[in-house]
Amino acid sequence: MASTQGPGRSGETRFAAVLPRERIERDFGTLIAEKRIYGAERNPDVLKKSGSGESFLATAVPPLRRLLAVWDRLFGNRVSPVELLGHLAVEIHGFGHREAILLFTRDRLLYDCQILQGNDAVGHLTLDLYRERDRVVPFLPFPTRPGRRVVYIEGISLTRQSTGYASALFRRYERLFHDLGFHLFRLKASLSVGKYYWAKEGFDCSDREQFRKIRDRLWDLAWRLDLPVAEQEVRRLTHMSDVAAFRRDIQIPAWRDREGYYTLERDDAHPEEFLFPLGKAFLLGSPPWDGHKVIYTDTPRRTALVWSDKYLAHGTPAGHAEGPKRLTALRDAIRREGLLESLIVTEPYLPGMEAIHAIHEPAYLEAFREAAARGDRYFATRDCAIGAGSYEAALLAAGGVMAGIDAVFSGRSDNAFCAVRPPGHHAGRAQAMGFCFVNNVAVGAAYARSAYGIARVCILDWDAHHGNGTQDLFEQDPETLFVSLHEHPSFCYPGTGRRMDRGKGAGTGTTLNVPLLPHAGDREMIDVFEREVVPAIEAFRPELILLSAGFDAHHDDPIADLECTEKAYVHMTLGVLALADRHCGGRVVSVLEGGYRVESFVASAIAHIKTLQGREDTPCSSAGG
Ligand SMILES: [Zn+2]
Repeated sequence: MASTQGPGRSGETRFAAVLPRERIERDFGTLIAEKRIYGAERNPDVLKKSGSGESFLATAVPPLRRLLAVWDRLFGNRVSPVELLGHLAVEIHGFGHREAILLFTRDRLLYDCQILQGNDAVGHLTLDLYRERDRVVPFLPFPTRPGRRVVYIEGISLTRQSTGYASALFRRYERLFHDLGFHLFRLKASLSVGKYYWAKEGFDCSDREQFRKIRDRLWDLAWRLDLPVAEQEVRRLTHMSDVAAFRRDIQIPAWRDREGYYTLERDDAHPEEFLFPLGKAFLLGSPPWDGHKVIYTDTPRRTALVWSDKYLAHGTPAGHAEGPKRLTALRDAIRREGLLESLIVTEPYLPGMEAIHAIHEPAYLEAFREAAARGDRYFATRDCAIGAGSYEAALLAAGGVMAGIDAVFSGRSDNAFCAVRPPGHHAGRAQAMGFCFVNNVAVGAAYARSAYGIARVCILDWDAHHGNGTQDLFEQDPETLFVSLHEHPSFCYPGTGRRMDRGKGAGTGTTLNVPLLPHAGDREMIDVFEREVVPAIEAFRPELILLSAGFDAHHDDPIADLECTEKAYVHMTLGVLALADRHCGGRVVSVLEGGYRVESFVASAIAHIKTLQGREDTPCSSAGG
């Protein structure tokens, strides 16, 4: 199986069974009698506690059917009210909970308590548990359906020194809420020392615009202090934990006031000087931000979905096979299937040009940029249609693969699916063709090496068309195994990818082309996958597997003549995951290439994503030992 990192991967599920309704009713009765359940007005202004000991705007206990409805919606009745209170009111580091109560509003539940050390009240804690509502049709206000389950840390305050208490408590809660099927932790990281620690604990900034501003401020700071930091290094930070860990090798001063608040500029109110690593000092001295942490998933594997609306800005003429509709249809299907709540949605970033120049010639990229800026209708060849947004979208597609690689190597996810466009596998060092401009998987392979120090990368390309661009880029490289399954070049674009092409020079033997005759289907595809692809990857022992995941080998696809179905994609995905588990800690970054009939493309991509998540676990035959 995959690596066991992350809260969701280890132990058993303690709340597997649904409790009988009578049990929950009985618990409600007990707690109402003990005065531990109330109703509450849902008004965030009055729900906030002012000072200690003052209660919420509590109201009469709601009718039992409302309590039961909220309980079912939040917990699926997998825990009883008394049990839940027991799990929440834990003693850690000598801190316990007193006066723990549950407050019910129409659609959410609050947990409120005093924090106690010995007999002394030293703080309070309020959690807000609710279920988001997802709009079924994105642009209409209704209908909606239940979305992610969220724990919001409404407030925690402590008057006593508490090193590590909050972290330990919330780690406990993370485990608990994971087992109860919750998806997100939210908090406002407004505490003086909290911002850095929450970031280190994996809380990310909820608002991407706010995150970009934080990143800009970090770059301003590095620039002002004249630190040896390159702008690209800052630009590729995508998560608050990246900021917290940023450039530990550089120390800068921060100044602290009596209450423990830090500032990055010395003044009379902040007399005490400390030296901290750059990212830590920056976060300690930065303004509050709203954070969230993914505590999902109840899927066996955590899968990141790299997505950006900016990929829609690569405009192609109506009737062009490779249009934005592909991605909007996929996005709608992901919502419709209820997958969004279990995917770790990851934003791509514009890469520094050095990352792209590792693969493409600067003059070629510049010509592409100019063509888009000039308003040209296509670049290099007629099938490479472009619009004003195409250059940036192409860079962002490569940056999307980099963000997927970051997610996997940082441990935020086990694997990733990058829903990028334009596709990339036909693009060569200085050549656009076949709807491709920047070779996304190739940029990703180079980036994984430079950023994470790995050597052996396998690129498996199961798009129906030969990945000629990728082959050209790596055919002399013994550290990159390129494997392509495609329709035979005598019958299909781009007319390359014959068996005899096995690599060149030092790279001889690390290119494997497996052409399939027209009308080959699941049986033939799965057969060559098992007989040739699996043993080749097995022998190579990659440290990362990149997939050029095109879905145009589907029998409904208009621009190739293979006859596969979703079954082949599920089978191959399972095989790749098994190989990755054996050799590279489960690290698979799947990158969208082709797939042009929207319905079959979407069905195939959804089956692939579900399999990456571990939802599909029935191999069609013995998947690679
Ligand atoms: Zn293709």
